[in-house]
Amino acid sequence: MLSPDSTIGILGGGQLGRMLALAAARLGFKCHVFAPSPDAAAFDVVHRVTCADYADNAALDRFAADVDVITYEFENVPAQTATFLSARTSVLPDPQVLAITQDRLTEKNFITGLGIATARFAEVCSPAELASALGATGAPAILKTRRFGYDGKGQVKVRDKADAASAWRQIGEQPAILEALVPFEREVSIVAARSRDGRIECFDLIENEHRDHILKLSRVPANVSAAVADDARRIAEAIATAFDYVGVLAVEMFVVAEGGRQALLVNEIAPRVHNSGHWTIDGATVSQFEQHVRAVAGWPLAKPFRHGRIEMTNLIGAEVEDYARWLTVPGASVHLYGKGAPRPGRKMGHVTQVFPTSRG
Ligand code: AMP
Repeated sequence: MLSPDSTIGILGGGQLGRMLALAAARLGFKCHVFAPSPDAAAFDVVHRVTCADYADNAALDRFAADVDVITYEFENVPAQTATFLSARTSVLPDPQVLAITQDRLTEKNFITGLGIATARFAEVCSPAELASALGATGAPAILKTRRFGYDGKGQVKVRDKADAASAWRQIGEQPAILEALVPFEREVSIVAARSRDGRIECFDLIENEHRDHILKLSRVPANVSAAVADDARRIAEAIATAFDYVGVLAVEMFVVAEGGRQALLVNEIAPRVHNSGHWTIDGATVSQFEQHVRAVAGWPLAKPFRHGRIEMTNLIGAEVEDYARWLTVPGASVHLYGKGAPRPGRKMGHVTQVFPTSRG
């Protein structure tokens, strides 16, 4: 167990790192953020920063020597960076988790290997393979680059074989995966924390609405049956246990109608705190950020209780300019990430609205 005056190293300097550092500070920890961009949003709130490239071994060496444990807020930290650091100090979750989840194909094989359902998928390495993969997935389908895709980047819809050549060009002729287009009823995610001694605590199931492939709204609890919510929890527990995971992870899922009942298909795993879990700062007795800090510090997890029905709205691009109106909405908690001038598609802040269900 780390003592409260220890230093936690965070790889990545975005808003997730910023909120992790704020949660760590509340428990007495110091944080040192390592990020390549000089205007990283997390730099504003921490004790020490390193602004260097993820391949800068001298900077990584100094970083490792300065901290008591290292974690990440960003899953595209090069796996070599995490492996280099893990030879020097404790890196949690294990870098092996990054290696699996950074590649959509190894990630899907890992999930299906646990007996958990996903959309039908096939590997694609050439336009000719894309045409035959369509036979396996059925049409329409979505072609996704295996690596570095997020918020819909590196994805294109394929309606039939005639689309194959142009779809392949559009994703930059890279190793890819073709997935059946899922006719989902709704999208949900579960945020789970696992401690060093293998205990797991899940937050309530979250329902998510995306706009232009970017998360716009999260609602809790998700509008699904208790059986589906239990299934989601079991899926998260199975994945976290199989990884021997330490920290917070999120699993994004589709709810589909199957023979008159609802079923879950896993879309992807985020090996970190997750945008759909931001509501936990204001809407629960413990936040996803504090759970992550507790886990990597070897502290016991808290049992989370939700304060009511929740709506979390992302402020994307110029929407952040509306913050003054949000400040006047009763029960709304406003979070701004200090990112400067808004750019289209950039997550600039979020608002959590708690609607208490009882007044105790
Ligand atoms: P991803 O980058 O895989 O998280 O995808 C971003 C969003 O695209 C998801 O949240 C869905 O709204 C949509 N999407 C991704 N994959 C599929 C799929 N196989 N079927 C239907 N919609 C999808």
